[in-house]
Amino acid sequence: MAALCRWRHRFKRTLDLRNITRNLSTNYDYDLVVIGGGSGGLACSKEAAQFGKKVAVLDYVEPSPKGTRWGLGGTCVNVGCIPKKLMHQSALLGSAVKDAGKYGWKISSPVTHDWPTMARAVQDHVRSLNWGHRVQLQDKKVTYLNMKGSFVDEHTIRGVTKAGKETVFTAGNIVIATGGRPKYPTHIPGALEHGISSDDIFWLQESPGKTLVVGASYVALECAGFLTGIGLDTAVMVRSIPLRGFDQQMAHLVTDYMESYGTKFFWNSVPKKVEKLQTGGLQVTWAGQDSGHERQDTFDTILWAVGRAPETKALNLESIGVEINKESGKILVAANEATSIPHIYSIGDISEGRPELTPTAIKAGKLLARRLFDKTSELMNYDNVPTTVFTPLEYGCVGLSEEEALVRHGKDNIEVFHAFYKPLEFTVAERDASQCYIKVVCLREGDQRILGLHFTGPNAGEVTQGFALGLQCGATYSQLQETVSIHPTCAEEITKLHISKRSGLDPTVTGC
Ligand code: FAD
Ligand code: NDP
Repeated sequence: MAALCRWRHRFKRTLDLRNITRNLSTNYDYDLVVIGGGSGGLACSKEAAQFGKKVAVLDYVEPSPKGTRWGLGGTCVNVGCIPKKLMHQSALLGSAVKDAGKYGWKISSPVTHDWPTMARAVQDHVRSLNWGHRVQLQDKKVTYLNMKGSFVDEHTIRGVTKAGKETVFTAGNIVIATGGRPKYPTHIPGALEHGISSDDIFWLQESPGKTLVVGASYVALECAGFLTGIGLDTAVMVRSIPLRGFDQQMAHLVTDYMESYGTKFFWNSVPKKVEKLQTGGLQVTWAGQDSGHERQDTFDTILWAVGRAPETKALNLESIGVEINKESGKILVAANEATSIPHIYSIGDISEGRPELTPTAIKAGKLLARRLFDKTSELMNYDNVPTTVFTPLEYGCVGLSEEEALVRHGKDNIEVFHAFYKPLEFTVAERDASQCYIKVVCLREGDQRILGLHFTGPNAGEVTQGFALGLQCGATYSQLQETVSIHPTCAEEITKLHISKRSGLDPTVTGC
């Protein structure tokens, strides 16, 4: 009987909702509703409001399995780029303190790191950004709804608050920008109960202690890098290759540097189970991929960094016919970010085939708002998107990897210029620079258009950003040679590249 009542209630409610939709089909509550207040969603909603449109953005954070929750702004602000870069900075300062003695500073040892101090400072900054985003939405007259959104029909959204209160509203255009969340390898006994993810690490009040990071891509290597840098015993478990999709020569320079920096690597290994010991430690059993040979060690923290899953499940997309890639769960989009339903769009991490990066989500969101409400036609250009992996030795790149250039153009049609160099800052500090390397992949013919640029070294993000403009403008190797350098910098070594791999000459740069 109770079930029948619930069904009747739901059915009546559906009819009510349909009526709302029908009544407002030409007069929606909003011109635009954005589901997801992260990098893409906030940018899109703010831009749309500038054109005098009535805009609402829904943002709702489901707590992590460990119960971590955070405020407005999405992954980048709360559990991604921002806290990650700040903790990376904390680690870099540790290395700088070590160098400082060589530069004349008298620093009494032992120098120690205090996690709670760092975490508090980082978390306070993140909270200030949460607040800043709320203020900006208010200033730009975007309605912020702290609600979890799902589709009722093609023009109708249901929002549900934390307390379970439902609101239904209609919109002429809807943008899905719900991003993704870390995956857990639930097939591994103990993984979910005893592990954490990048959704938790930045919000820990106490040091994670001896940590095993499982995974070998951006998130894994960056987290392992800063944990090592602040002095924690840190290991990375790699199933296959590091930084899949990146130039593999560069990827191995990154991990070689990390090994010399103190991060342990368990290569070709997969975890089998995680057990909590009576002493409180977490015992991990793992096996070699080839040998099957089992090993065990005990850690204080297990950090799963095994990829991210798109947040599409709760949206009720099937019922309205928004097509997704069944394997990845991501939303299929056209070049103009439209889904299979023309007035419903999808931007950022949730979209199939898009880079999972903040600047692409932001730019795609802004351009979409302009196309919708300002009669422009500019599409997002996803070519030559630069990126940096903020590992202890940073790695910045833009364009094709050497492997990809070989596949696309053939060995005989590409020329790779390269150099090992020593940052000036490393000399007095007596730091090892074996992995500081630059590679520029060019077409072989004519002016030798640059296809890809790769750099490991200090401030790789700052270095790569400028050269990304060059690639966007179709820069050639001839133009690179014509570029006057800034001395003494690491970036200048890029303008001075003259040794090709094909020549077989020693690519080690010496002197000024
Ligand atoms: P998100 O920023 O994830 O925002 C989606 C929002 O939607 C979230 O707030 C979510 O809670 C909310 N949401 C989900 N479902 C619903 C719903 N049904 N209703 C309402 N709200 C919902 N990128 C870089 O460019 N540089 C970096 O250095 C960098 N570092 C990173 C480090 C880590 C550890 C991680 C995990 C990512 C990093 N990234 C980095 C990637 C970057 O954070 C993402 O690409 C970016 O945040 C994607 O933006 P988005 O708008 O697609 O989604
Ligand atoms: P990725 O999907 O890029 O990598 C997942 C990693 O986990 C791979 O190394 C994969 O290994 C490994 N893995 C997957 N399943 C298992 C398993 N069961 N056991 C062991 N290892 C496993 O995910 P990330 O979370 O690292 O990054 C997601 C995205 O976030 C990135 O693509 C990037 O765009 C963005 N990001 C950007 C950053 C930046 O700009 N600096 C920083 C961090 C994230 P295998 O290769 O064998 O499949």
